[in-house]
Amino acid sequence: MLHVDGSPEFVGQVRGALEHIDPTAMVMDRAVCFDTGRSFERHPRGHELLRRLVESGYRVVIIRGTSSRCEPTYPNGMRTGSTVVWNFGQVPTNAPACFCIGLGHELGHADQLIRGVVGAADLYPAGGGSSGFSMRLEMLNITGRYGVETWDGVTENQLRDEHVPRQAARPSY
Ligand SMILES: [Zn+2]
Repeated sequence: MLHVDGSPEFVGQVRGALEHIDPTAMVMDRAVCFDTGRSFERHPRGHELLRRLVESGYRVVIIRGTSSRCEPTYPNGMRTGSTVVWNFGQVPTNAPACFCIGLGHELGHADQLIRGVVGAADLYPAGGGSSGFSMRLEMLNITGRYGVETWDGVTENQLRDEHVPRQAARPSY
């Protein structure tokens, strides 16, 4: 299940971003759901990502914060829900993008945590992950770079590619 917590203004910002990722996405009573009367034909990966989160038995909550991140509910490596903290205006400086992309990136982490393909230690690697060679595998997977094929998750660059208008690919994490 995917929920939004915050002011009506923030809920509106989240709804706006989710509609970019998947035009069928709606927020009703702070729960994300889908308008089956609309088409996600041009946004298959965005819809896949949101559908996984909405249909999972794990709780993911989107809240407002100054630094976007995804915090696991149970940070001990098991499959877990999470809190997605989203700064509306935060985009990577090396690849500016529509405001929705940062939220999509963090929701990708939430999906990883639900599916148990990444633990908290991987999300917060010691020393950070700013240089190309120290990037952790899941960060490569999120941005979808370097031909990493070990995870079938939705990547940030897939969301950028199917965005209308198309957003340039992010070269690195
Ligand atoms: Zn957008």
